[in-house]
Amino acid sequence: MKSVFMRYPGGKAKAVTFSYDDGVVQDKRLAEIFDKYGLKATFNFNNIRPGRHHYSKEEIKEYFLSKGHEIAVHGAHHRANGHTRTIEGIKEVLDCRLELEERCDSIVRGMAYPDTGINLMGNFGTYEQIKNYLTELDIAYARTLGGDNDSFMLPQDFHAWMPTAHHKNPKILEYVDKFLSLDISDKMYYARRVPRLLYIWGHSYEFDKDNNWELMEEICSKLAHNDEIWYATNIEIYDYVQAYKSLRYSANSRKVYNPTLYTIWLDVDAKLYSVKPGETICIED
Ligand SMILES: [Zn+2]
Repeated sequence: MKSVFMRYPGGKAKAVTFSYDDGVVQDKRLAEIFDKYGLKATFNFNNIRPGRHHYSKEEIKEYFLSKGHEIAVHGAHHRANGHTRTIEGIKEVLDCRLELEERCDSIVRGMAYPDTGINLMGNFGTYEQIKNYLTELDIAYARTLGGDNDSFMLPQDFHAWMPTAHHKNPKILEYVDKFLSLDISDKMYYARRVPRLLYIWGHSYEFDKDNNWELMEEICSKLAHNDEIWYATNIEIYDYVQAYKSLRYSANSRKVYNPTLYTIWLDVDAKLYSVKPGETICIED
């Protein structure tokens, strides 16, 4: 039996993404840094909040969407889903989604949990209740927080997507180096050749507060222009994984059909295959 692992577009085994919250004025500067290094990010916006910057339709297009970044839901009023009753949680997410889709003139399907998110359940509810309504609201994924994911694994549950680390994590540069030094080739033990993701999150206003924009420049310059890495937004990663999961195999695993609109890449015993949309390929013996 052969070992088959997903590979990102271009056959790459590594991806990098970023997620920044609250739609603050410093997001523009952060997006410019990502653009300078060819990186992609997801920016999680609330609705209009007093005292907060509000990016107009034109600004969202110019600074974020036209540069390939994603805008995602962060709750209309930034209320933690674990603290709101179900009906309030639904309203927070739906209101935010409707308003952002209007402002972005596009379909918004991603989310980062606001505040303490699903870490504290002050409403005495369960994570399953929240996941259920997010699914019904067509929220494809939601970023959580509270643990270091320095094994760089993709989530089993996209509604509890644990990032690698916050940029303020004292080990962040160590994690970046660890990620870069991973050699996911036939030199690696076969059962560990899974695709990896470095996922950094935070708030761009923290760089002003901590006076450390150079930290982000350092992180980005280390990660930039690397042929081994796919640079993607959160939703691009989610959509690609769903497309990979849609592949259809023959019972003997030798034929693979791709019913999606994506070209899908696979690593089969360290040999790289790609399957174009609508194509069926044969895996060699
Ligand atoms: Zn927030």
